[in-house]
Amino acid sequence: MAVLKFQHARETVIEQLRSARCSLASEVVPLSESLGRVLAEPIHADRDFPPFPRATRDGFAVRSADLVSLPARLRVIGQARAGTEFSGTVGIAECVEIMTGASVPSGADAVVMVEYTSERDGWVEVNRAVAPGENVVPQGSEGRQGDLVLPVGRRIRYGEVAMLAAVGKQTVSAYRKPRVAILPTGDEVVELGVTPGPFQIRNSNSYSLQAQVASAQAIPLPLGIAPDREDRLREMIAEGLRSDLLLLSGGVSMGKFDLVEKVLADFQAEFFFDGVAIQPGKPLVFGRAQGTFFFGLPGNPLSTMVTFELFARPALQLLSGEPDAPLLFLRARLGKDVRRKPGLTAFLPALLEGSYSDPVVSPVEWKGSGDIASLNRANCYLVIPEETEEIKAGEWVSVLPR
Ligand code: AMP
Ligand code: MG
Repeated sequence: MAVLKFQHARETVIEQLRSARCSLASEVVPLSESLGRVLAEPIHADRDFPPFPRATRDGFAVRSADLVSLPARLRVIGQARAGTEFSGTVGIAECVEIMTGASVPSGADAVVMVEYTSERDGWVEVNRAVAPGENVVPQGSEGRQGDLVLPVGRRIRYGEVAMLAAVGKQTVSAYRKPRVAILPTGDEVVELGVTPGPFQIRNSNSYSLQAQVASAQAIPLPLGIAPDREDRLREMIAEGLRSDLLLLSGGVSMGKFDLVEKVLADFQAEFFFDGVAIQPGKPLVFGRAQGTFFFGLPGNPLSTMVTFELFARPALQLLSGEPDAPLLFLRARLGKDVRRKPGLTAFLPALLEGSYSDPVVSPVEWKGSGDIASLNRANCYLVIPEETEEIKAGEWVSVLPR
């Protein structure tokens, strides 16, 4: 069927998920449990931010015009502490002692830092001029009461938690987490707790996928291992299609017992593609059956993990209510020459080291897409564009963190 290029395949996933608009129901969650959820309500400022002209330094609230000739001698007429108000007005040649976070009293238009002053007997000598507004954040300058501060569809991370707390939201309306069925396939695959026979393989994909689904803030539903037998595979796929997303692993290559596509076709599945020009992960399948999107992820463990990151994670982001699902790449210099046969966009396990001003990335040795150990010597994927045959050490390359 259709083998798409990497970007085209990503766009296909994003378009399909967007146009399906399968947005989930919302539920109310306490702020303390909201991390990682997606907002289902817009959040507005409940008052001006800051709610008063806020001093950003400890020192003296002054009239900047009083500090034109230096040193200036000002009379201290009171104190403004954080949390309270100095209710008077600062007049000519007067000032108020002020603390960081306190409201700048009327009459004053700037704060001079305590470091530039010396105080004695109710008078202060100031040795440094200030510009109007210096060390003061005007009321409402960060946001006006009623302004939109967080839109619907925003993933709640720590900055959003700070904003929600600042506007007094003890609970928030968030979309429910998508439920993701996980269905590993393969006659050779055995469950943990069973001693594998000489030619059997432990089921690692189900566990790595559960971990990835959970890290995408969705709910993993492991279904157990499907054998390479149509009847049982059909039953388990039917069960998996009752979730919000179905992830299969294995059984999507060209082998005689790769039955996943055939059985999905029995469900009148629509296939958007069944191959992507990437390495690892080329036989990736994406489609929809009975209203549920599914991915047939290739069974080799690195292929399973990489295709989840490149395609299933963005699908989950959109399914969760986020409006976009960009991939964020870093840039680094290549540590050693890379040569390979062009034709596929490659995501090779690699080690990113060095400082922010001198990042260096080198691919780790790997024995192909079954090599889980190689991934655990890596902290990222080195991205090699489709047509590229050779990259020299020292050239800038793209890196996908893992
Ligand atoms: P397949 O995509 O079914 O041809 O499988 C490709 C390779 O991945 C084979 O070597 C399988 O043994 C291996 N594999 C398939 N499923 C799993 C799994 N759940 N856990 C670990 N390895 C697997
Ligand atoms: Mg198989």
